[in-house]
Parts: sequence; C-alpha cells; structure tokens
Amino acid sequence: MSVSFLRKHGYFSNGWHSGAITWSWNGEKTGSISVQSSINENEQYVKFIYTQTGNNTDEKKDFDYKIPLTTTPCYFGGKRYWFICPLSANGRYCGRRVGLLYKARDYFGCRHCYDLTYNSRNRGGIFKVAGQTISIPELERLESEVKRKYYAGKITKKYERYLKKQDKSFRQLQVITACLGAKLH
Ligand SMILES: [Zn+2]
Repeated sequence: MSVSFLRKHGYFSNGWHSGAITWSWNGEKTGSISVQSSINENEQYVKFIYTQTGNNTDEKKDFDYKIPLTTTPCYFGGKRYWFICPLSANGRYCGRRVGLLYKARDYFGCRHCYDLTYNSRNRGGIFKVAGQTISIPELERLESEVKRKYYAGKITKKYERYLKKQDKSFRQLQVITACLGAKLH
C-alpha cells in the first residue's frame, strides 16, 4: 500500500473517504481490502478493513484498524502525506514515517518491521510482469539517497534519477492494474 496510490485516488483530500481495492490472479479474485480515510484538522488517518482466512484452516479473521498519517511540507508548498507504521516489536511501538506499508503477515507494517532487506536472497517488494522488474525497495533506496531536490534553482542529478525511475515504475504499475482489471470480468 503506498501513499502515492491513496493520494492519486483522493484519499487525502479533506473529509471522509471510503473505497475498496481488489486484486486477482489468473482471472480469479484473490483478495480485497476496504480503505477509509478521515482528513480534517483534528485527525488524519486511513483505516484498513479486511478478512483473512488462515493458511491451513477455513477460520476467518476480521481486521479493522487505523493507520495514523503525518505530513511534511513540500518544497513548492502544500504537504506530503506519510503512514505511521502501527506495528510493535518486543513491546516497542515502531512509529516510523513511511511511504509504503507491506502486508507480510496479518497486519500492514513497514519494511523495517518485516525485515524486508535488499539483498538478492530476500527481494521484498519486487514485482515481475511481462519480463519487467519493478523494485519498490530500489525506488525507496533512490529516494533516500536524495539529499537535496534542488540546488541553485536546478534539479539535482539524484532527484532527477529518482523521479525518472518513479515515473517508469508507476507506468508499469498502471499496466499491471490495467491487466488485472481486464481479467476481472
Ligand atoms: Zn514498522
């Protein structure tokens, strides 16, 4: 789940929003999640609501919880939204500010909590579609390398590299979404 996806679909504009995201595999619907958001002066959060079936049982478990949001100012005005990771490890609340949340187990959490590292043995967040590879961690790494977005009124090389990569990944993700959508009916 990414903040850019939610922003693109209007979840961060003022007010209350509700929608659902579904996905499928080989023409079969394999999952769905309801997303609600509330953006106003007093509170800013998204809510994830979904039902999960156990790996070896038919027992269904319902999930319904809030992910707090926070904002940082943008260079050219306005603000950018971030998730606050809701997970706790060893009794310590994570609370990291992140742009992406993964669902590796029951709950959505950040890659630090789910220990998704970038070595070749554990390539979390990599999608392969039609021979193309989209690496979310690589995108995050490029973003983290951007120390300055602009220098002396000009866009920095690292920021430009990140933006190009982001653009390419989003176009690829749109292709995936289009493919999945076409298979739904
Ligand atoms: Zn976390």
